[in-house]
Amino acid sequence: MFQSRHQHHPLLRWVLLGARADDPVTRVRKIVQINLGAWLLLAHIAGYNAWFMLTSNPALMRSGWVQLPVAALIPLLFWLQTRRHMTLARALLLVLGTGDAVLAMVAGQGTAGGVHMYLLLFALLLPSLTEVELTWLMGPASACLVAAFLALNHWGWPPHPALATLPPPTLQALQYVILLSCLLSLWCATALTELAAALNEQRLQEMAETDALTGLPNRRRWDSQLALEARRARRTAAPMSVGVLDLDHFKRINDAYGHDGGDQALRHFCEVVGSQLRSGDILARTGGEEFSLLLPATSLAEAQLVGERIRHALVERPFVHAGQAQGITVSIGLAQVQDLDDLRTPIKLADAATYRAKREGRDRVCLADA
Ligand code: GH3
Ligand code: MG
Ligand code: MG
Repeated sequence: MFQSRHQHHPLLRWVLLGARADDPVTRVRKIVQINLGAWLLLAHIAGYNAWFMLTSNPALMRSGWVQLPVAALIPLLFWLQTRRHMTLARALLLVLGTGDAVLAMVAGQGTAGGVHMYLLLFALLLPSLTEVELTWLMGPASACLVAAFLALNHWGWPPHPALATLPPPTLQALQYVILLSCLLSLWCATALTELAAALNEQRLQEMAETDALTGLPNRRRWDSQLALEARRARRTAAPMSVGVLDLDHFKRINDAYGHDGGDQALRHFCEVVGSQLRSGDILARTGGEEFSLLLPATSLAEAQLVGERIRHALVERPFVHAGQAQGITVSIGLAQVQDLDDLRTPIKLADAATYRAKREGRDRVCLADA
């Protein structure tokens, strides 16, 4: 879902590198996290090196060059990620990120420009980079990084002597760039986590309310849609009808074609019924071979026509299994909603009408007694 909706955006293609269409959202989040982290790290190293060369200050240039081996290791992040070694890839991202900052500090900048702030950044990023099974490690590791930052901030690390020749505005610019890049990285990580959580929730909600076999709403969604439609009907004052559809002698289909054949027959049935409904009508699977139908803005007489249409469509499009046509019939009970505050009664009445249809010989539409 995440990928298919966005894959054509050129920028997202870079951060979705290695993600597959059927990957769960949580895995896609990790992939994006690793890719984004890798690209950001690479951009930092390239950007700092370009800038430091322009200043031609030996201290800054040294602090740029020592980061080049880190840049050379970044492809390893992509490689691990595409091999699905997520824990290793995320651990390596952490090591490369913090290691890069420490190298830059030790080799030239010291703490004068504030490069040790990246340790604080990674302390804050740790919770979103930690695997659930390693949660216990999160607190102590973050605490170590914060302690290292505080110690460096308090005692400082001496820069290379050549940094003293740097014009004060350039040093100040370096401090601002480091601060802003930390904030930007944090912003990206937060936005990513939030977006992935929202998408995950949406996907889970869809799964919880959808019948896996037929793709129809299940009973949970049926209940909420019923309430929603009742509110709408109250505004429009239009009639509303409900129906209960129960396949006839479905056990025989299972006996003849096996359970898989029965499943195929159920899907075929849903397809045929769906083809006879309007876009606002709702068909839900509320039992094994029992379905519920909601027809907004439909009187009982109109609902009866819909029921008959469904029966005829089933005759015209029989279920075909192994080249052999097998007719499926259905018993349909219908009732009109009289009181929008009481939806249970019409459903009970429709259910009773379905039983009557069974008793009277199946393959028919029965209307609820008024
Ligand atoms: P009737 O006309 O009286 O409704 O007869 P019936 O055989 O359809 O009714 P009954 O309720 O006795 O049996 C329903 C059968 O539907 C039994 C069950 O195995 C089958 N069934 C329920 N859910 C599924 C499913 O998801 N897949 C398959 N293949 N069969 C199912
Ligand atoms: Mg049945
Ligand atoms: Mg049944």
